[in-house]
Formats: sequence, structure tokens, C-alpha cells
Amino acid sequence: MKRLAAAALLLLLAVIVVRALIARPQEKVESKQMPAIDRQAAVQRLVSAIRVETISSSTATGPSPTFEAMARFLDESFPKVREALRHERVGARNHLYVWEGTDPSLAPILLLAHLDVVPVEPSSRAAWTSPPFDGAIKDGFIYGRGALDDKASAVAIMESIERLLERGFRPKRSVYVAFGGDEEVLGLHGAGVLAGLLESRGIKPLFVLDEGSAVIQGMVPGVERPLALIGIAEKGFLNLELVARAPGGHSSSPPDQTTIGILSAAIERLERNPFPRRPNHPARLMASEVAGDVPFFPRLLYANVWLFRPLIDLLLMQKPVSRASLRTTTAVTMIHGGVKDNVLPTEAKATVNLRIIPGETRETVAEHVREVIDDARIEVKTSSSPGSDPVPESSIESPGYRAIARAVKEVIPDAIVAPSLVIGATDSRYYRRLSADIYRFAPLRLTPKDITRVHGVDERIGVDQYIDVVRFYARLIEDAGG
Ligand SMILES: [Zn+2]
Repeated sequence: MKRLAAAALLLLLAVIVVRALIARPQEKVESKQMPAIDRQAAVQRLVSAIRVETISSSTATGPSPTFEAMARFLDESFPKVREALRHERVGARNHLYVWEGTDPSLAPILLLAHLDVVPVEPSSRAAWTSPPFDGAIKDGFIYGRGALDDKASAVAIMESIERLLERGFRPKRSVYVAFGGDEEVLGLHGAGVLAGLLESRGIKPLFVLDEGSAVIQGMVPGVERPLALIGIAEKGFLNLELVARAPGGHSSSPPDQTTIGILSAAIERLERNPFPRRPNHPARLMASEVAGDVPFFPRLLYANVWLFRPLIDLLLMQKPVSRASLRTTTAVTMIHGGVKDNVLPTEAKATVNLRIIPGETRETVAEHVREVIDDARIEVKTSSSPGSDPVPESSIESPGYRAIARAVKEVIPDAIVAPSLVIGATDSRYYRRLSADIYRFAPLRLTPKDITRVHGVDERIGVDQYIDVVRFYARLIEDAGG
């Protein structure tokens, strides 16, 4: 019996080692000639875009002076685009560009970005290295709100097309570019409308590329090289309102629990009972994609996800960002109740923001919350915003994924490309009916510190990195469109 166990163990070890040995590194891509870019002029155009304070709000969706300034910026900064592409204003804040390909029988490609930004908290203004809407350049970085999210992408897409036009390129496949003006406030009037318009015109893109994931380094154990994560799926989201009600009265003769107490107990139950973990399929794909490009010991792990999944999950559970990719998360983000110190509140309310993992839906997670709270005195209702179901996974074998991977490797030759699950929501979710192949990526190089700059203080992008973003889109359009 002992011998049999030893033999089995030996066999298992052999399988683990052999799998690691046969894991192949990713193909190298030869860098083609990049379009000539006047760095200073290109950077200046990004700076000009940052200076336009296109802060979106969920209440104001109509015409506005800043979004008009943005429209003028786009028009004046890219004269060749203006000449060669069809441009449409869609609603007051959105733009659609169509670069007609020479072969109308080919499905077009669709590039997305958003022109709006989140506001800067007044209390954090002083903490910025330079004012957030100045677009100052310091130590090789361009500072400003939108530098990463998402003006770098929007302006770089325009820049890349301008440069390709300059060198006489014309795509075989049409290239569509859609810029939304309200991504930061749900995207209903931007991407929602743009996607509906394209759908009504029967546009079926070969693939869609939006923001969402980036090039990270030093964040995945055992992976030292830059890791270009291409978002192939996206979590959904839902806001639930928990409302506790009671008759009220004078605080001198209170019941055992006030509505605030009832609500607090419910929130406590919710936080103590997280959603069950689900297999993160994109993370498993990632592991096998990187296996051939990491040193031997991490390779043993990544080449054998079938065996080490519990260990990999354990690693992922260590940090909130990676933990969020394993389950639906709940965050109680708002709470209200009570009007005066001696009045029993008749109502107390809390808002729970849920981010839904693929495999679950808005209905199933709402049901789960009701079950966990399990209190007839609390109403669990969906808030006014409809939320969205998770966006299912797109293939990593598609022409779109492969073209994106090639373009990244041309621009960042030592990058390893791998798929991932995007935990935030992007505009691309509105386009799911148009194409099965939706990817979320821009070659922004992010350190853990940079991630907090997005929507935070000192948002910035390196000048060299920005030029790489332009090159990436140029190579992608030449390759996938040509
Ligand atoms: Zn964004």
C-alpha cells in the first residue's frame, strides 16, 4: 500500500514537472515600422484635452459649453481625420467617426473611449502636484484628471488615425470610433445611445475594444515581466436599497430595536456572509497563458492550475482587488435614518452596491441578499438605476484578441499577454448585442500606486507611455484593419 502511494505521488510529481517543462513561451512579434510621431505635438494635444473640464453628471446630459469645447478640440486638432472620416455628433456629448474601409464586405472594427471624467474632490485639490485641469508636465509625466481615465485612449485613437492618414494608409476593413460623454455616470446617454444607433444600422463589428484593463507589473506573484491583461469578461453591478420601517414614537419609550438597529443588524449579517466563491475562468486562462514565460518555480504552479487552483485562489484572496475577481462583492455605500435625537425613526435606509461575478445575475444576487438578511421588517428593493448583468467571456482565440495581443507585443516587446476579468463596469457592456468579441484594454502601464491615481489624486501618464498608447492603436488599426 505504501509503495502504491509512493508510486502515485511520484507520478503526480512527474506530471507537474512535465507540464511545466512543455509550457511554451508566447510567440515573439517582430516590430514593424511605427508611424512617425511628433512627440511634443502629440503630448500637447493630450494636454489640451485634459484642460477641457468634461466632468459628467447624471442630471445634466444635454448641451454644455465644456462638451462643445471638447468637440472643437477634436475638430481642430485632427484635420486629416476631419477630412477623411465621417463624423457624427450623436446627442449633445458623443461622437461617432467612421473610416470607410476599401472592402465593404469585411466586418468593421470598433474602438471605444469616453471623453468625460470624474470630478476632483475640493478637499483633495491641494494634494495634487499641479492643478488637476492644467495638464502640467513634470519629470516625464503628464498630470491631470483624465490622463489615464480615459482621455489618453480617446486622444491616442485620434492621434493614431491622424498619423496613419498622414502616411497614406487606408484600411480594408472599416474602422468605427465611438466616444461616449457620460461613462462615469452609467453611460446611458452616451454608449447606450451610440450602441443603439449602430445596432439599428446593422453594424456587426469583428471586435470591440474599450478601456478596462492595462499593463501591470509586480502585481501577480512570480510574474516579473510586464503583464498586459486584456479584459475578456466584465462583472455586472446592481444597487439595492434596504429599507427598515417601524411605527416610530417618542425615544423615551423605545422598542428593543429601532429601525436603525434593525438595519444595522441586517448590514452586519450581509458583511458576515459574503457571496460564495466562484471559479474565475479568465484567471485560470491567465495562468496557463503566462506559464511558459515565467521562471521555473512559478511555472510549476501556473502550468498546473488543475491541481493548484485552491492555492492560486488563496493567493488571489490576499488582496481586495484580486479577491473581487472571485466572487460577487457587496459594499454598503450609503446610509440614512433619523431626524432628531428624541424621535424614533420610522424609516432607515442603506444602499448596497453589488458587483456581480459571471455566472450570477441581478435576480440571483438580489435573492441571495434577501435570504441572508432574512427579516420581514426590511424591504430589499432595487434602486432607480437598472444595473447590469455580467458580460460573458469573449474568446482568446478570436482574430480580435490576437490582433490586440500582437499590437501590445510590438509596442512593449517584453510584455506577456493574458486574459482577465474586469471588475469595474465599462461602456463596452452596451455593445454586447453587436459583437461576441469584446475586449477591454489600453497599454497603460500601471503600478499599484497608479491604480489609486485613477479617480484619485495625481492622475498621470508617462510621456513615453502615452506615445506607446498612440503606437498601439496605430499598429492595431494597421494590422486588424489592413
Ligand atoms: Zn474610464
